[in-house]
Amino acid sequence: MSKIIKHPELGEVFITKRVKSRRLSIRVNSKGEIRVSIPWLVTYSRAMSFVEDNKEWIIKQRTSRKNRPSPMNGIDVEAIRNQAKATLPARLKYLADLHGFTYNKVFIKNNVSNWGSCSAQKNINLNLRLVLLSQELIDYVILHELCHLKYLNHGKEFHLLLNTLVNGREKELRKKLRQYRIR
Ligand SMILES: [Zn+2]
Repeated sequence: MSKIIKHPELGEVFITKRVKSRRLSIRVNSKGEIRVSIPWLVTYSRAMSFVEDNKEWIIKQRTSRKNRPSPMNGIDVEAIRNQAKATLPARLKYLADLHGFTYNKVFIKNNVSNWGSCSAQKNINLNLRLVLLSQELIDYVILHELCHLKYLNHGKEFHLLLNTLVNGREKELRKKLRQYRIR
């Protein structure tokens, strides 16, 4: 038996009564939804006051690192892959030509470890999930990888070059990108 009740500040609370449940418990899932399980005989209003008592904790869970919004929530990987293949190589080519870089091959990858990478063989890998980000962040990642064609490290010269290519916005864009989890 379950019910959705709206909390004035937190929004919808999904409450489920469970026969086997012995205590009230709250979980905040990766979408930030509040799930409360309560024993069968506990009332929904008791559940809501339990939520109220744990409001600070819920807000903290929602803003914690683990619960940052993921651009992949509820998205079809194949559709994204097609979109990535149709747009990312062309954008890479455009930015490479614009700034005078020469790379070997480009691969569109489905991984959760990085947004992009560049090999010593001058091949560039781009994460298909990039297409879910804003254009400025896509360009930022592509330019980062292009700079690795010149410097295969994150040294001072690397950052100087990248910062020039993004008009002095490297720190700001890096911070923006960090707000997204890849997964
Ligand atoms: Zn890098």
